[in-house]
Amino acid sequence: MERLKDPAAAHAWCTAARNSGRSIGFVPTMGALHEGHLELVRRAVAEQDLCVVSVFVNPLQFDEQSDFDRYPRDFDADAALLDRAGCAMAFTGTLEGFFPGASGIDGVPREDPGPAAVGLEGDQRPGHFEGVATIVRRLFEVVQPSCAYFGEKDFQQTLVVRSVARRLGFPRIVVCPTSRDSDGLARSSRNARLGLHARERALLLSRALHGAAAAWAQGQHTAGALRTRLSTDLADFGGDLEYAEVRDPDNFAHVPSDVERLERAQALVAARVDGVRLIDNLRLDGGTP
Ligand code: AMP
Repeated sequence: MERLKDPAAAHAWCTAARNSGRSIGFVPTMGALHEGHLELVRRAVAEQDLCVVSVFVNPLQFDEQSDFDRYPRDFDADAALLDRAGCAMAFTGTLEGFFPGASGIDGVPREDPGPAAVGLEGDQRPGHFEGVATIVRRLFEVVQPSCAYFGEKDFQQTLVVRSVARRLGFPRIVVCPTSRDSDGLARSSRNARLGLHARERALLLSRALHGAAAAWAQGQHTAGALRTRLSTDLADFGGDLEYAEVRDPDNFAHVPSDVERLERAQALVAARVDGVRLIDNLRLDGGTP
């Protein structure tokens, strides 16, 4: 596997690969790789001629400096995992490497994240999706892949990324299912910061989502009833629950609780567990993104 530490070198490598007629499947990451990331990588390896992975802790998408500072960084360890998973090239870079001429975060021209950025994560993390859209657009320009692979774990992010791809005219976006530990907890680089007790508490999130899916299966299809079910199951979190929401995944705007009967439903939750911010979501009607 090729390891590159400069986006310009990565661009040259990808251009040569494309010119030799090979398709590129791209997986953008922030590193601290776990099985969830590797499932995306394996899918790209299986479906495309070459898999390319970026590893970059993007300062533009962090709304809390402490979260950015604490984010684990070990490119060599990540590269070893990627090599074993069949990745052809992994690259990283600095902010200045990705945005030549921009001096610091404030000098980077921002990308519009589109309407899907409104509400939920967009409310809880001001500027987050603008930062995501900005780096994703740049990464797409560097790699120019046929397909890019993202996790359903970050459901709202997949909608933002689709809007960037639509604007650029490429790549095709492939959304892969959320990867979970055997106890149901959605895999996340932040899970490593959970102690035993915190992990037990964190499990309430995926259990509540599955409770909502059971309610859907029993015929509860109004947003209000499903929201009430989620909030009841998550009452223990008190003020640490940031949101417990149900939306139509194809039309992401807020649905009033009283009137609407949903055709499709995605339940989404976010909470803090011992200071660690966790998000999770589940499609309730069995559909796929
Ligand atoms: P991150 O490194 O957190 O920016 O994640 C990189 C990519 O991996 C994103 O598309 C995430 O949605 C995806 N990802 C992270 N965790 C999971 C998971 N548990 N299941 C599926 N995809 C995931």
